[in-house]
Amino acid sequence: MPIFEYKCQTCEEEFEKLVSGTNVEISCPKCGSRDVKKKFSVFGMSGVEKQISSCSSCNATSCGSCN
Ligand SMILES: [Zn+2]
Repeated sequence: MPIFEYKCQTCEEEFEKLVSGTNVEISCPKCGSRDVKKKFSVFGMSGVEKQISSCSSCNATSCGSCN
């Protein structure tokens, strides 16, 4: 189950929420506003393409020696 991090646009409260479904309405635990912004997912980004730049010399995803 993914945990998402949100930030309330009304009172700027930051909070994490365990989301069990896709159509879950998130509201701020502090002021109750639904004007919240999702920050990131802890367990990977669904729907977001990950950009992996691999080293052309050694094929490592994070290479500090070849470049
Ligand atoms: Zn709030």
